[in-house]
Amino acid sequence: SKTAYVRTKPHLNIGTMGHVDHGKTTLTAAITKVLSERGTGSPTSYVSFDRIDRAPEEAQRGITINIAHVEYETDTRHYAHVDMPGHADYVKNMVTGAAQLDGAILVVSALDGIMPQTAEHVLLARQVGVDHIVVALNKADAGDDELTDLVELEVRELLTAHGYGGDAVPVVRVSGLKALEGDPRWTGAIEALLDAVDTYVPMPVRYVDAPFLLPVENVLTITGRGTVVTGAVERGTVRVGDRVEVLGADVETVVTGLETFGKPMESAQAGDNVALLLRGVPRDAVRRGHVVAAPGSTVPSSRFTARVYVLSGREGGRTTPVTTGYRPQFYLRTADVVGDVDLGEAAVARPGDTVTMTVELGRAVPLEPGLGFAIREGGRTVGAGTVTEVVG
Ligand code: GDP
Ligand code: MG
Repeated sequence: SKTAYVRTKPHLNIGTMGHVDHGKTTLTAAITKVLSERGTGSPTSYVSFDRIDRAPEEAQRGITINIAHVEYETDTRHYAHVDMPGHADYVKNMVTGAAQLDGAILVVSALDGIMPQTAEHVLLARQVGVDHIVVALNKADAGDDELTDLVELEVRELLTAHGYGGDAVPVVRVSGLKALEGDPRWTGAIEALLDAVDTYVPMPVRYVDAPFLLPVENVLTITGRGTVVTGAVERGTVRVGDRVEVLGADVETVVTGLETFGKPMESAQAGDNVALLLRGVPRDAVRRGHVVAAPGSTVPSSRFTARVYVLSGREGGRTTPVTTGYRPQFYLRTADVVGDVDLGEAAVARPGDTVTMTVELGRAVPLEPGLGFAIREGGRTVGAGTVTEVVG
């Protein structure tokens, strides 16, 4: 049988973000390689670039969720690290809270500097409450020092402009590519980056005593065992044998099995990435976007007020104003729901504005003040907001 998961170190969720081709996936592979080679008996296994980029496990199951979870350990912490292939995947997974990042590694190519997705990811990270960013100035093997100095200045300014205190943010010059090749100078740089993450990203407060809640990221069937849902536990604790309800599917059931990274566990808590085996739930009853929760702990709603930042054209958003009657998609946790926008007296919101709006969703989902969300239209992010009040 499989080895049970043993919780020996604090667990954090982090991820790489940044512009396409700046080296996020290469760096992710390099981190696992360097940690896996820290002496015999290292708890970390090397995960190659191809295995991250193709997320083969998900592909085999015929489901494309476009998020790769990689697991590794430093001396003091256990990390689940997410890497995503494209910009739209960041919006869906990170921005909507599905990826639940406690901290992020912003990957910026020293050759190219800040690019549009670099800026958008920083903006969206701020919006969803990622409070700590560490910068990996990647491709430092190929850049010249003066240019890299300029890029570093530019990145610190960008972070300061978004409230990250750019002067204090650790910026580490790395080469994911050379570290993967085993070049000692650059494996040392990866160690320095990991030290920065260990020390700069604090252990977040986990609401382990709150009622259990898990937004469903993915659903699969294990032959002979039943339906499994996967996702990150947002709050609370769940044990094998607990009763839960699936909001959206309108079913109440019992958790008959729990796993994390393929290892069985007796109980999962806020911050853990888990698979829940649910008794007697048909595969097609549950979908991404549903929420598994302690029975009676939360009631879905469809109407709320929110503060919303309307992205400017420069940030990849709209170039024309939004008015009352606008009907975009709202990404709340893992759900993707259409909603009607009412801007009240203001009536118009221009790109670059921060406004208050009332939203009527096409279907009820669990809502609460402080919940972050993204607004999308025609495949791009046009707004990022926070629920201020649930109206009904
Ligand atoms: P992603 O889109 O951000 O995940 O970027 P990838 O990891 O796929 O890398 C994009 C390209 O940059 C690939 O051709 C990599 O080989 C190259 N690359 C990544 N890291 C480095 C690096 O540290 N140095 C150099 N010179 N090239 C790199
Ligand atoms: Mg990639």
